[in-house]
Amino acid sequence: MIATDALMWITPRPEIAFVAGRGSWLTDARDKRYLDFVQGWAVNCLGHCPDEIRDALASQAARLINPSPAFFNEPAARLAQALVANSGFDRVFFANTGAEANEGAIKLARKWGRKRRGGAYEIVTFENGFHGRTLATMSASGKPGWDTLFAPQVPGFPKARLNDLASVEALLGPNTVAVMLEPVQGEAGVIPATPEFLRALRALTAARGLLLIVDEVQTGMGRTGKLFAHEHAGIEPDIMTLGKGIGGGVPLAALLAREAVCCFEAGDQGGTYNGNPLMTAVGCAVLETLLAPGFLAEVAAKGDYLAAGLNGLSAEFGLAGERGAGLLRALVLTDERAPALVEAARDLAPEGLLLNAPRPNLLRFMPALTVSRDEIDQMLAMLRGLLARR
Ligand SMILES: *Cc1c(COP(=O)(O)O)cnc(C)c1O
Repeated sequence: MIATDALMWITPRPEIAFVAGRGSWLTDARDKRYLDFVQGWAVNCLGHCPDEIRDALASQAARLINPSPAFFNEPAARLAQALVANSGFDRVFFANTGAEANEGAIKLARKWGRKRRGGAYEIVTFENGFHGRTLATMSASGKPGWDTLFAPQVPGFPKARLNDLASVEALLGPNTVAVMLEPVQGEAGVIPATPEFLRALRALTAARGLLLIVDEVQTGMGRTGKLFAHEHAGIEPDIMTLGKGIGGGVPLAALLAREAVCCFEAGDQGGTYNGNPLMTAVGCAVLETLLAPGFLAEVAAKGDYLAAGLNGLSAEFGLAGERGAGLLRALVLTDERAPALVEAARDLAPEGLLLNAPRPNLLRFMPALTVSRDEIDQMLAMLRGLLARR
């Protein structure tokens, strides 16, 4: 095993070091293979080490890595054009992480509130929501316990309940500037906002002159079978953030907004690596792949296939069903053995299986969007063996 004691401890990690990956498979230092249904937390949308990303990195690295954010560069401009052409938004600001993109969204909404809403700054967010690990995005998140961790919080994020419009309305006041949510709450356990709720939220915010911000860091970039999850509800938000899948594994994120909201002045927003050509060239390659004819329809079809398989397991073992959208899904257990199942799946031999348990009673599945039906079958067979164990 490699020496890992110089790394700052932040969380328990298994004694495994991965040395290679390809598609849906990872290989560790002992040469054991693992079927990966976590994919870096829904990050590697094209799987491990896809040719598209390898080639984009190699050719861009040979041409230009970072001319500084004070100058335009071709890949950033091209990716912004493509995102605008394929969404309801007009302008893009690139960031490096989802949390940073959300910080940008919060800043943009507060700036807009200062200029257009008499200094309004409050952003209604949701219980159990997750928006990142910076101080402001932790404050915007509704993860239990985070309200006191690293106190004092950044103020201005009252919490409503998902799919409960009255709970949102009750929080609106003269200081409210926006409502912000994940179309599917990911870390909370894959809990979708209903299309009716999203439409009602859009109508409510429009009627009150407030902004609607969707955090699509986990749900965007094809994960749910459409390019962006809010498209399922047919709504047009004012601001959207992207992360995870947009870089296919490299650090890239984005903040998108409608023209009427774009009110940053010189010096308000920026960052050393923001929009660097090396990462945005990867973003171009990822987006081009997702937009290839038939790709997203195939994601939706494989999502249905995975859902059917999980429903089968649920029926067979008397579990509490499955839920999700596209290739972001969860299997709900009737007990709290999800963490133990994750460990047992990893320890399977000769080949292991990587799963995630965001809650003790819940397994989450976020395979590569390029996963095959065969690999879905393999995963289901491995999981079936584990569920049958006791
Ligand atoms: C992962 C995630 C974030 C944070 O992204 P980072 O790149 O880890 O900062 C924010 N919002 C949602 C919905 C996420 O799933």
